[in-house]
Amino acid sequence: MYSNKIVLHFPSNLVDKSIIYKLSKDYDLEFNILKAFVNPKEEGLMVLELKGDKKEYDKAIRYLKKEKVRVQTLSKDVVRSEEKCVHCGLCVSICPTQAFEVEPRTRKIKFIQERCIACGICVDSCPYKALSISF
Ligand code: SF4
Ligand code: SF4
Repeated sequence: MYSNKIVLHFPSNLVDKSIIYKLSKDYDLEFNILKAFVNPKEEGLMVLELKGDKKEYDKAIRYLKKEKVRVQTLSKDVVRSEEKCVHCGLCVSICPTQAFEVEPRTRKIKFIQERCIACGICVDSCPYKALSISF
């Protein structure tokens, strides 16, 4: 049985659609929702594990893309270079899971790895290239 963990980014108009139910009904995939939330821009984000026949899985991914859902394979780990980070704070508002926080006393940016779903959004956004994905 094939299984994969993915991140889905839904446009705001699709947030209420029962797309995930369709994955089970039409493509006979088992799904396990690991995290789901709507970010401040009203974009839906869902991290889920899909299991089933690989051909059906591929069809389901094609269906999602057709529906304008951005599908991203869950990357392994996001790491921050302590040398490169200048604590500018840009990543704090970008991260959909609040994995960055301002430390009130020092005003430094804390990276809370356990909250990170490795969606990769912050990696391209950091102007100092302090964030990277390790596979
Ligand atoms: S955007 Fe980059 S440099 Fe700025 S606080 Fe975040 S990791 Fe550090
Ligand atoms: S990859 Fe970056 S933006 Fe995405 S959850 Fe992790 S810390 Fe947040």
